[in-house]
Amino acid sequence: MVGFGASPLGDEFGPIDGAEGERAVHAAIDLGINYFDVAPYYGRTLAETRLGQALENKRQAIILATKAGRYDGEPGSGFDFSAQRIIASVEESLKRLRTDYIDVFQVHDIEFASQQQIMEETLPAMFKLREQGKVRFIGITGYPLHLLKAVAGSTAVDMVMTYCHYNLLNTTADKVLMPMARERGIGLVNAAPLHMGVLTERGAPPWHPAPEEVLGAGRQAAAWCREQGGNIADLALQFAFSYKQVATTLVGMSKVEHVRRNIQMAEVKPDPELFRGVLKIIKPAADIHWVVGRPENNDPGSAPSPNSVGDKN
Ligand code: NAD
Repeated sequence: MVGFGASPLGDEFGPIDGAEGERAVHAAIDLGINYFDVAPYYGRTLAETRLGQALENKRQAIILATKAGRYDGEPGSGFDFSAQRIIASVEESLKRLRTDYIDVFQVHDIEFASQQQIMEETLPAMFKLREQGKVRFIGITGYPLHLLKAVAGSTAVDMVMTYCHYNLLNTTADKVLMPMARERGIGLVNAAPLHMGVLTERGAPPWHPAPEEVLGAGRQAAAWCREQGGNIADLALQFAFSYKQVATTLVGMSKVEHVRRNIQMAEVKPDPELFRGVLKIIKPAADIHWVVGRPENNDPGSAPSPNSVGDKN
């Protein structure tokens, strides 16, 4: 199932044409995409504002997910997971998104807070919003899998989102998170099937937190696919969309052309030869994960990275 990741609407992968972004949202809805994910952080409110405008008269057709806890600021700052800020945040998002309810309200990047604060302050505030009906479901998002598992496995969250953890470069979500999600009956959302741009012809944006080994493997795989007459993004999406256990796979989009193409890729099986060749190239960099957030929250074996606190998602 293809979900619409709206961080590109906040110019996170480079400036976009706002009107084209709006057309991409409309095309997605017309073609049957019904899950949209955004956050105040994307474009420092720009993505929510653009999405809200594009959703005018179409809000009821979709499941709308946004987040709270991560805002503006220098890398490593700009977080506020306090109950007070969460409550204010939902009101601000409702205004920008031009709606009176949020379907899925998520704590954005829990690894930047203490686990204690998330469990004892942030989530209780969110659960109250769920009781009040301002939001329908509560979730958490972040990068370190063990932390997501610990928090989702011991609280009443409805969903958990992981990114860069189930695609051609990394499949560890299947081992670490999926068994817990299945056991507890909560939805697992798989974000960034293109490894935040690494698995595209254009390549990773400058802020990408992955170590060079991963970025280089992506470039090599893209070049090899091109030589074979294929396309790395197509293959990556075919692979990720074939993982049917997840509630949805969120791909970042801001162009009608990508919306059309990506929906088509959900129906195509990866070409076995191309797939084998890419896996071989990627093997030395497979399942490499990097440092994000507070040191105590990182997964064991996280690789250091100069951009590890600067990612834009
Ligand atoms: P992604 O892996 O989906 O890659 C997005 C990039 O690929 C964009 O530059 C987009 O323009 C490009 N792209 C899309 N389709 C393409 C195609 N067919 N060919 C070539 N390029 C194509 O990364 P993402 O956008 O970071 O992740 C998807 C969504 O998941 C985000 O938009 C966001 O909503 C969510 N997300 C959340 C978190 C979090 O909560 N911490 C982290 C990452 C992602």
